[in-house]
Amino acid sequence: MKRVGVLALQGAVREHIKSVQACGAEAIAVKWPKDLENLDGLILPGGESTTMRRLIDRYGLMEPLREFAQTGKPMFGTCAGLILLAETVVGNQDAHLGVMDVTVERNSFGRQVDSFEAPLEIRGIDGAFEAVFIRAPHIVSVGAEAEVLCVHNDKIVMARDGQFLGCSFHPELTDDHRITDYFLSMIQDKSDLLLPNPSTYSKV
Ligand code: GLN
Repeated sequence: MKRVGVLALQGAVREHIKSVQACGAEAIAVKWPKDLENLDGLILPGGESTTMRRLIDRYGLMEPLREFAQTGKPMFGTCAGLILLAETVVGNQDAHLGVMDVTVERNSFGRQVDSFEAPLEIRGIDGAFEAVFIRAPHIVSVGAEAEVLCVHNDKIVMARDGQFLGCSFHPELTDDHRITDYFLSMIQDKSDLLLPNPSTYSKV
């Protein structure tokens, strides 16, 4: 069974845990560096990125999170989680983790509309996805290797950069688990690695 961590410092933690479980994977709440051991992938939830960053520093998680990224294991940031992953945050001198080749801008959808729902067409997902946006960021630009997965009102709201997946909205706040499933499909199932090498049985 795939083991997926959910950074559990602040924000929509329980909802992500439920969504991971609904997709048939094991969900682990991550609060301390040791909780990152033996995970196959990690979700950084939405919430408030500056608060989450403060807690990441307080719990000594910054280096362990960057090391986790270096293992190549998939990481998925939703909303504030996307801001944490981004290499560049407009108006900030320094990135947070700075591992995903995208530039993001915070609170991009107007002050009067703090939150809204919209049906999205997402590459790789069949049919509309009803998405919840809450004081959402958007992706201003993506790096050469990254792929835009969804645009809403001329703004990029979902992208993938190799092992990193990020979206502006909150897929975990609905009962539609297709995006969590998409993320799980990015995680290599360890049982695949246990298959015998084809050259061994072709000789039989
Ligand atoms: N505006 C928030 C931030 O900058 C993100 C909002 C969210 O995660 N729903 O961190």
